[in-house]
Amino acid sequence: MGTGRWVVAGLALLASACSSTPTARALAQDAVTAMGGIEQLQGVQTLVMSGGSGTRNRLGQSVRVTDPDGTAQLSNVIETLDLAGGRAALDYQIENAGFMQHRQEVLAKKDDKLVGLENVAGRPLAVMSPSGLFSWGSQNSPEFLLRRNVVTIALAAANSALDEPPQDTPFNGRTLKSAGITLPSGEKATVFFEPESKLLAGYEVLDTESMLGDITAQYILADYKAVGGVTLPHKITIRKGDRPYSEVQFKLAAVNDAAAQEVFAIPETANADANRAIAEGDYSPLALTKVADGVYFARAYSHNSMVVEFPTFLAVVEAAYTDAQSHTLARMLEQQFPGKPIRYAAVTHHHYDHTGGVRGLASYGATILVEKGHEPEMRMVLETPHTNPPDALETKRKAGQTVGAIEVFEGKKVITDGSQSLELYAITGNPHVDPKVIAYVPGTRVLFQSDIFFPGLGAPASPDAVHLLKSVRDLKLAVATNIGGHGGVGPFAELEKAVAAVK
Ligand SMILES: [Zn+2]
Repeated sequence: MGTGRWVVAGLALLASACSSTPTARALAQDAVTAMGGIEQLQGVQTLVMSGGSGTRNRLGQSVRVTDPDGTAQLSNVIETLDLAGGRAALDYQIENAGFMQHRQEVLAKKDDKLVGLENVAGRPLAVMSPSGLFSWGSQNSPEFLLRRNVVTIALAAANSALDEPPQDTPFNGRTLKSAGITLPSGEKATVFFEPESKLLAGYEVLDTESMLGDITAQYILADYKAVGGVTLPHKITIRKGDRPYSEVQFKLAAVNDAAAQEVFAIPETANADANRAIAEGDYSPLALTKVADGVYFARAYSHNSMVVEFPTFLAVVEAAYTDAQSHTLARMLEQQFPGKPIRYAAVTHHHYDHTGGVRGLASYGATILVEKGHEPEMRMVLETPHTNPPDALETKRKAGQTVGAIEVFEGKKVITDGSQSLELYAITGNPHVDPKVIAYVPGTRVLFQSDIFFPGLGAPASPDAVHLLKSVRDLKLAVATNIGGHGGVGPFAELEKAVAAVK
C-alpha cells in the first residue's frame, strides 16, 4: 500500500476547496470581468451619469436640534467624472421644505492645478479652492466622486484584494463575501460581492464629512446596465453612520463622450479668480467692508458674516459655509487687524450651511459661542475626529496646539472690552429655527441676523421676518443697521416697512 491514494485524495480535497471558495482576489477579478473586463474598465476616461432623481439626507436643516433629519428631493442629477484628468462635477436640483435650488459644483483644473467652481442658478459663478466646494448633492463634494466611484473601486479591488479566503460580512441586510482592498489614495476599503451576478454589491469606507466628521460609509450599488462596453450600476445608495445619506436612480450613463469635458471649462472671465484660488490655498471669495466704527461686513458670494473689532481682539458672528471661507476671512483679518486674534466666533443656529466654517475658526483658537439649544449638533461638529483627510482643526489638535473650544451660553451672552460690546440673544419661536441667535452691537446699533430677513434685496417679509421684528422690539434693541447672513446691509427701517406691508 503506497501513499499515492492519500496524495490523490488530498489534491481532490484541495481542488474542491478551491472551486467552492474562490479567493478574495478571484472574486474581485470576477467582479471586474462581470463589469466588462479590466481593459474595458481601464479605458473609461470619462463617465457621465444623468437623468438622476432621488433623495438626500443629513442636510442639518431641522428647526430644532432634536428634530429628526429631513429628506430632500434631488432631481435632474448629472454626475460627471473625468477619471483620466482627475476632475469631477455634481449638477442637480434640490428641493427641501419649500427651498429649491439648481446647483453645480465642479472640481476643475487650471494649468493642472485643482480649482473649485460653484454655479448656482441666479447668481454669478464663484471660483474657489477645491476645499471651498459645498454640496447639497449626492456627495459631500465632487472630490468624493473621484475617490468613491465604482470604476476606481473595482479596479483597485482587482489590483489589491489578497489571495486568501474572502470574509463573510453583513452588508445592507445580507451576509456577503467581502474582501479588504487598498484604494489609489492609500485608503483601506471593503468590497462586497453579489453571489449570483458576481458584480460588486457595494463597498464600505471611512469618509470624512465636513460636518459629520469621520463616519463609516456604505455605497450600495444596484441596477447594473451595459453601457459603452462596460456594465455599470445606475442606482447608488449611500448610507453613512448606518443612516440614509443619499439615493439616486440614474436614467443614463455615457462613457467617453467628448461632451463630458464641457462642464470643466473655466470661463475666461474667471481666470484671474482661478489663479487667486490656486495661489491662496484654502480660498473662497470674500470682501470686507466697514459698516460702522468697529463693525465690518464680510460679504461672501452666498453666506456672509459680521466682524466686530474690540480693543485687543476680534469677534466673528457666524462661521458660515466652509472652512475655506473661514481661512480666507482669518487671513484678511490678520492683514487688516494685525495683532488682534479672532477670540470668538458666535453660532447663530445649527444649520450646516451656517456652521460649515466653525472648525476652521476654532483652528485659529477662536472660542465657539454656542447657545444651549444648538449645543448637541455643534459638539458633534467640533468634537468628532476629521482624519481622512485631516482638516486644520484636527491637525492642530493632534499637534497639541491651542485650538478653540465650545463655550455654551443660555439665552444671552455679552462680550465687552473697553467701550465695545457684542450682545448675543437667543430668540425663540421663529419658524426657521428655534432657538435663533441674533447679534447686536449696541455702540453703533448694528444687528446681524441670518436666514430671517435678507437686507437690500427688497424681498417681502416672511413669517420669519415678522417674528424677528417682534423679537427685536421685545428686546428693546434700538437697531439702526441690519446685516444679513444672506443679502447685504440695509437700514433697519427696511425690515419695518416690509413687515408693515404684509400686515
Ligand atoms: Zn438656517
